[in-house]
Amino acid sequence: METLKKKILYSKETIDRRVKELADAISRDLEGKEVVLIAVLKGAFIFLADLARYLKVQHSVDFVRLASYGSGLVSPGKITVTKEIETDIEGKEVVIVEDIVDTGITMEFLRERLKKRAPASIRICTLLDKKHRREIAIDADYVGFDLDEGFVVGYGLDFDEKFRCLPDIYVIEE
Ligand code: 5GP
Repeated sequence: METLKKKILYSKETIDRRVKELADAISRDLEGKEVVLIAVLKGAFIFLADLARYLKVQHSVDFVRLASYGSGLVSPGKITVTKEIETDIEGKEVVIVEDIVDTGITMEFLRERLKKRAPASIRICTLLDKKHRREIAIDADYVGFDLDEGFVVGYGLDFDEKFRCLPDIYVIEE
């Protein structure tokens, strides 16, 4: 792998424990309900795979892929959908599975879009939450870890399409 300076932030054991706790909380809240997990590609694919296997409620999975154009690193700019969900979510309990909520713009966009399909409820489950970076007031219902600063990679998260398959989460060092 490319030699970029990075240090470990969450080990695979720590992540695994936390993902199980999140799955337990979702299982408790949605017991007996018809649940659809909607993961945001690509970053959430590994988180989804682990979360789904720990869930004790029956559920289906689907994926959405979003692209943002515009001012790049500082703000995501305009968001477009490059892969739409294929499941009928009307009357079902939706759990959006996201890697990181940062400004909140992506989650707000997706939540508003999914609402039009009349699900019974929409919850947000994010592995990481950069609350202090919010530009839109949006709260996740399930949060793995709060992150104060830094750019993270691993466990599905990339830097320029690299590092997604590292089992631990690292923060890039300047
Ligand atoms: P938001 O619309 O909330 O500003 O954008 C959230 C998206 O920004 C995440 O889904 C993720 O793709 C990207 N992002 C934000 N912070 C990081 C980070 O530290 N590492 C990586 N790899 N992606 C990030």
